[in-house]
Amino acid sequence: MSENKKKLTSASGIPYYNNEDTQSVGPRGPLLLQDFILHEKMAHFNRERIPERVVHAKGSGAFGTFTVTHDITKYTRAKIFSEVGKQTRMLARFSTVGGEKGSADTERDPRGFALKFYTEDGNWDLVGNNTPIFFIKDPKKFGDFIHTQKRDPYTNLKSATMKFDFWSLNPESLHQIMFLFSDRGTPYGFRHMHGFSSHTFSLINANNERHWVKFHFKTAQGIRNFSDEKATEMKGLDPDFAQRDLVEAIDRGEFPKWNVKIQVMTEEQARTYQYNPFDLTKVWFHGDFPLIDIGVMELNENPKNFFATVEQSAFAPAHVVDGIHFSPDKMLQGRILSYPDAQRYRLGGNYEQLPVNRCPYATNNYQRDGLMRLDENGGGNPNYFPNSFDDIVHDPAYKQPSWDLDSNVADWYDRNAEGENDHYSQPGIFYRKVLDEQGKKNLVSNFAGAMKGIDGPKKDEIINRMLCHFFRADIGFGMAIAQALGINPEAAMPKQHTTTAQEVPAK
Ligand code: NDP
Repeated sequence: MSENKKKLTSASGIPYYNNEDTQSVGPRGPLLLQDFILHEKMAHFNRERIPERVVHAKGSGAFGTFTVTHDITKYTRAKIFSEVGKQTRMLARFSTVGGEKGSADTERDPRGFALKFYTEDGNWDLVGNNTPIFFIKDPKKFGDFIHTQKRDPYTNLKSATMKFDFWSLNPESLHQIMFLFSDRGTPYGFRHMHGFSSHTFSLINANNERHWVKFHFKTAQGIRNFSDEKATEMKGLDPDFAQRDLVEAIDRGEFPKWNVKIQVMTEEQARTYQYNPFDLTKVWFHGDFPLIDIGVMELNENPKNFFATVEQSAFAPAHVVDGIHFSPDKMLQGRILSYPDAQRYRLGGNYEQLPVNRCPYATNNYQRDGLMRLDENGGGNPNYFPNSFDDIVHDPAYKQPSWDLDSNVADWYDRNAEGENDHYSQPGIFYRKVLDEQGKKNLVSNFAGAMKGIDGPKKDEIINRMLCHFFRADIGFGMAIAQALGINPEAAMPKQHTTTAQEVPAK
């Protein structure tokens, strides 16, 4: 055999010859237990699947580069932004949310927009969506909400009744579902959509000053969406449309790009802004907080192996790096806990040592051992702190500035607090100001089409509750949906309705 050829080996490196026939007692006889290659092949095959992500199970990813185009060092000391022209390697994973791993890419669903930047100060994960907002603003509702996007426990079918029941009982969902049922709820693959940090984060500069920030990733390919009909058709024609579109574009050398921008709010402005700036169901108006250019993200390298890279990639909003920090956004606070927890369940406690998740720079700490420890496990260095032997320093340069926070602790949420329960103004503005005439028509027909799937004994109650929210956002919008559903709009309109931005009472 030529020196250059690779020998067939077992997983433990033992060369073997026959990869097709199992040892047997004579040509027709039963198989021999001693053919361990058979056991190895079958046993490994049985273990090929890992738990799929409970949300964002179906996804696609690629490596790329983030390039700084504008100086924002007055806001942040994060090394990734240290100078114009600086490039940082990164990974992006896009996904649908509710579907299982084999589900169709063109489902009406938000799209995950998860990014990992391999910075000198560690891996920074920014885990957002293609929408600037979300369905809920408190993480205690997260599991309940996601259950409504999954399968009915009895029929094992997706259920419009579950979805609209939940949304009608959670007025704060209205803004997000208006994005979801607009044309942008069925994007044409992953290259033609924007991304958002969605959450508010903070930027910390060299003087330890804090500004609140939202990140925006504007597609340079232009927005492109499937119509509702085309998206439905594509589920059958090519359920993997978005994966195919991304991998083939990069293979052709058409590297998708996003222009990266931020909105910045001072701590003082946050105290007086008309909305809670940490409420994930609200945007910061561009007129109040204009977009500031910071850089360009380009995806230019397809992963060599999908499972090793995209399936095993693990993102966590907990992973912020020096110069970038959290905010009191309740959903962010919940995700700081739940994302690493989900990765530990899915990939194990040493998931950050998998090549795609590993920090390319040195990591030094006292965590040791555990299932599938892949690195040198700290070698012979001390595994406890404090100790008299190692030279790992705790650099005070990385100290975070303190936060001024309210001091009372409450286990309830005051839904009537000022700035907390206007769930209708921004959806109303979205309908009147952002959507063009065709966009409005599509929104109405997409909602009506989906709401026709509501059934069961609570059908009228759920539809009426939903219509009340639409009316409160905009009377014309509510009327149009009622009409599309064949309901007399006068009968459906809330009796107490007076304004387009009415507040709902606390539940
Ligand atoms: P502007 O009126 O200044 O801008 C409208 C924004 O909406 C632009 O970012 C535009 O993005 C985006 N947009 C345009 N068409 C659609 C669409 N069909 N579906 C979703 N987004 C679209 O925004 P304001 O800040 O004054 O906010 C007004 C309303 O716009 C908000 O209530 C919110 O509903 C919506 N919005 C606001 C965003 C924000 O971060 N402030 C972001 C997105 C929407 P582009 O043209 O780049 O595609």
